[in-house]
Amino acid sequence: MAEIRVERLHRSFGEFVAVGDLSFNIGDGEFVFFLGPSGCGKTTTLRMIAGLLMPTSGRIELGGRNVTFLKPRHRNVGMVFQSNVLYHHLSVYENLAYPLKVRGWSATEIRRKVQDVAALLQITDTLHRGTESLSGGQAQRVAIGRMLVRDADVFLMDEPISHLDAKLRAHMRAELRHLQKELGRTTVFVSHDQLEAMSMADRIAVMNDGALQQFAPPQEVFDRPANVFVAGFVGEPQMNILDVDIREGVAHAPGFRCDLPPGWLARNGIAPGAYRLGVRPEHVEIAEAPGHLAARLEVTEPMGAENLLTFSLAGQDFKLRQPTGLCDRFRPGDMVPLLPRPDHLYLFDRVSGCTLAQAAFTDRSRT
Ligand code: ATP
Repeated sequence: MAEIRVERLHRSFGEFVAVGDLSFNIGDGEFVFFLGPSGCGKTTTLRMIAGLLMPTSGRIELGGRNVTFLKPRHRNVGMVFQSNVLYHHLSVYENLAYPLKVRGWSATEIRRKVQDVAALLQITDTLHRGTESLSGGQAQRVAIGRMLVRDADVFLMDEPISHLDAKLRAHMRAELRHLQKELGRTTVFVSHDQLEAMSMADRIAVMNDGALQQFAPPQEVFDRPANVFVAGFVGEPQMNILDVDIREGVAHAPGFRCDLPPGWLARNGIAPGAYRLGVRPEHVEIAEAPGHLAARLEVTEPMGAENLLTFSLAGQDFKLRQPTGLCDRFRPGDMVPLLPRPDHLYLFDRVSGCTLAQAAFTDRSRT
């Protein structure tokens, strides 16, 4: 069993808190992503789990063993980084064999293991080539192979595919997900790419400012964000979030008015006052007839099957995604009647940012 338990993990650099009091458990065999913006503490946390960086305080257990202050070689973790250093004077075979050689494996054991891993990663035909002749994707697979040969309890990956081109990245995403499930090894993957996290993770730990914001399966993070940060960070394009005043069942902002679902506020114990209202771009429709809400179209961006429309509303950008064809009649400068879907609204606390109510969630919980 190689679950990871992290308790009140803290790391400061001088006065600056990079990771503050982080606690979470990762189950044996789970594939977990640390997701968050640049500088939020993902790599610092991963490096502490790896033993490359010592915590200021807190505790890390791997497979039930307290490893908090152990050196990396005593933790049995395998790592792969964004810029992997392959030994360019060695062949692919020798690169894969090296971690086993230094651990004293016999030549026969090494040959068998390297061949198995090469077959798994489909790089058998490159084994006797020099590493400088490899494509970016092949080199990355060799780096991943060097992590796999070691039979580590836990795999730690820091943005291992972020510098590959989009097509190769998509391919590697699917491949790594498949590989992780096949090997069943506890894996932590650092990324700032939400698409990567959504498509690969069993659970996502969303981080900001060195703190955990939410730790849940991808769909739950998307459907039921714990707070306004997660709501704004996960989703492309990001959720529209407006400061509103709620009075008599209606959300108001300058140039904005939205009727809230009947009974929604009462059901969630929401009193009149100042809140933040969220609605995703895919949950805003163009109203058939002029209604309470009209906004000025600023830009139309064709995206193939859909268009992304940016409106100016309540002094900020307000985005809408529409199937191509449904919105071709509008030009920048037009006033367009908009209808945020009442069954897909989110309400956040104006001060703490916590999610207070969610129309889709409420409705789903009633069925
Ligand atoms: P990115 O996605 O850009 O890699 P990250 O979320 O992985 O970001 P970290 O590398 O963990 O972020 O860094 C978290 C914060 O800690 C950053 O503000 C960074 O500047 C700071 N930091 C990291 N290492 C050190 C260090 N050795 N000395 C001082 N500050 C550091």
